[in-house]
Amino acid sequence: MNVDFHCHTTASDGSLSPAELVARAQQMGVDCLAITDHDTMDGYLEARQLQDLTLSLVAGVELSCIWGKSLVHVVGLNVDADCPSLKALLSKQQNARVQRAQLIGERLAKLGFEGAYDYAAKLAGDSQIGRPHFARFLLDKGYVSSINQAFKRYLGAGKVGDVKLTWPHVSEVVQWIKGSGGTAVLAHPLHYKMTATKLRALLTDFAAAGGAALEVINGKQTGDKTRYLSELCEQFGLAASLGSDFHTIGPAWSELGQMGKLPAGCQPVWSSWGNIPVIQASGAGES
Ligand code: AMP
Ligand code: MN
Ligand code: MN
Ligand code: MN
Repeated sequence: MNVDFHCHTTASDGSLSPAELVARAQQMGVDCLAITDHDTMDGYLEARQLQDLTLSLVAGVELSCIWGKSLVHVVGLNVDADCPSLKALLSKQQNARVQRAQLIGERLAKLGFEGAYDYAAKLAGDSQIGRPHFARFLLDKGYVSSINQAFKRYLGAGKVGDVKLTWPHVSEVVQWIKGSGGTAVLAHPLHYKMTATKLRALLTDFAAAGGAALEVINGKQTGDKTRYLSELCEQFGLAASLGSDFHTIGPAWSELGQMGKLPAGCQPVWSSWGNIPVIQASGAGES
C-alpha cells in the first residue's frame, strides 16, 4: 500500500488546490493520503467532497506548537474533522497565525521592510498565513535572492521573524488530537536540529502526553536517518508514520507518494485503526 500521510494544499502553504493535489496523488500511485495543512482542515474538507476518488483519504492536520523554546509540528491523523472542540481549537490556531503574522510584519518593519504584513496577507488570501508568505514578500521586493535565503536570514529558527509566543504547548496539542479520536504523530523530528539528548527529552514528553507515533520518513531523506528514527520508535514505544511533506511541484519539495516503505519492524501508524478504507486498486492490501 502506498501511503502518504503528510502534504499541503492551497488551504495552507501548498500550491495545488485540494482537487489538484488528490489528482496528482492518484497519478503518483498513492493509495492512502492524508492532507495535513498547517492548522486547518479546509483542504481535507474540500477533498472529501470530491467524486470518484480512487484513493482513501485520512483526515489530517499539521499543528504548530512549542516545546521549550522550540517550535515543533504535530500531525494529527484520523481525527474527527467534525468534532466541535477540534474545530474551535483550529480556529484558535488560525487566530494565532494572524496575530503572529502581524508581529512578524512589525519586526520586519523595524528592519526597514515596510508593508510586509499587508503583502503577505494578500498573498495568503483565504489560506493560512505563514512565514512562506513573508518569504515571498522579501523575495518579490528584492530583499533576498531566494526563499531559502529569506528563511536563513529573517524567518528561520532564531531569526527576527521566528515568533513563537502564540503557539500552545505540544502536550496540549496532543490532547486535542486524542480528544477528537485521532493519532498524534511528531512530524519531521530531525528538522528541529536538536541534539540527540534534547530530542530524547522531547520524545519522552511527547509519549507521556499521549503522542503515538513518529514520522520516520519525511520526504527525501537518507537511509541512516530512517533507521535512526525507527530505532527511536522502538525505544519509546511509538508507531511510525511517513509522508512526502509535498508543498509544490519541483525540486524544492518531495513528490507525493515516492518515499518508499517504512523499515521492517516499524509498527505502521495505521495498524491501530482497524480497517482503513483501502481501495481495491493495484497495490492495495499490502503494507
Ligand atoms: P509557518 O507554518 O508559518 O511557521 O512556516 C513554516 C513553513 O515554512 C514550513 O512548513 C515550510 O513550508 C516553510 N519553510 C520553512 N523553512 C523553509 C526553507 N528554508 N525554505 C522554504 N520553505 C521553508
Ligand atoms: Mn509548510
Ligand atoms: Mn512541518
Ligand atoms: Mn508539513
